[in-house]
Amino acid sequence: MKGDLKGKVAIVTGGSRGIGQGIATVLAQNGATCVITGRDEKRLALAAQALQSLEPACRGFRLHVEKLQEVEEVAKAVFDAYGRIDILVNNAGITSDQLLLRMKEDQWDRVMETNLKGVFNCTKAVARYMLKKRYGRIVNISSVIAFMGNPGQANYAASKAGIIGFTKAVARELARKGITVNAVAPGYIQTDMTEAMEQRARDGILALIPQGRLGTVEDVAQAVLFLASDAASYITGHVLNVSGGLYI
Ligand code: NDP
Repeated sequence: MKGDLKGKVAIVTGGSRGIGQGIATVLAQNGATCVITGRDEKRLALAAQALQSLEPACRGFRLHVEKLQEVEEVAKAVFDAYGRIDILVNNAGITSDQLLLRMKEDQWDRVMETNLKGVFNCTKAVARYMLKKRYGRIVNISSVIAFMGNPGQANYAASKAGIIGFTKAVARELARKGITVNAVAPGYIQTDMTEAMEQRARDGILALIPQGRLGTVEDVAQAVLFLASDAASYITGHVLNVSGGLYI
């Protein structure tokens, strides 16, 4: 899809690689100035450099999404630098898989803190600036695992299901302020996260996907572009599955 995001400023968390990098690239190709965040300084610098060839004002900010104070500082720095924040894509996420009885408390905490508390932190910090302009597009990256469950991913599934409840509650809170809040639930997408899977597991998953292929970062990015554009201004509190039919 083609969206006109000229003059818009977008923050994409976890934009230094994988799906987040793909989202930032598509938003910048459509005219947005993208601020990407991540923890690894080198990877962030490389990804920001690539975005600058599309839109020179794009920048990278180092950020741990689970640390509210850091998130608030970055949101303020972005607002001070650009004078607006129009789009927030809460994409940063991790897995730490283990069957329930073997799962360590730390694995539960890390996944919930990054995937769910991170979304709370970033949305809370950025919504304040969107409210000033009475305009905003927030897109949260969930997963079809929120609906389907998956053995070994109780922590991940709970965090991604939590994002959906959060999306719906905040969509209602912000609906009269010109701010939409939606979620995208990808199926299995080709990134570092799925690269780590064994071939047998990958073949098993392929057999379950009606379209017979893993998704690409572009597939997810196009859905985010739509929800971030003015074409989607009457859509809020919605979850858009991008899964090749894995979850129907
Ligand atoms: P990757 O592992 O490829 O990338 C994750 C990104 O998040 C990186 O940029 C990473 O940067 C950043 N990140 C991780 N932890 C933190 C943190 N604590 N603070 C700030 N940034 C962080 O993941 P994907 O691209 O595969 O996934 C992106 C999103 O899509 C995730 O939310 C994931 O759950 C979701 N998803 C992915 C699917 C898939 O099949 N790949 C399917 C469904 C959903 P750095 O390491 O430098 O911090």
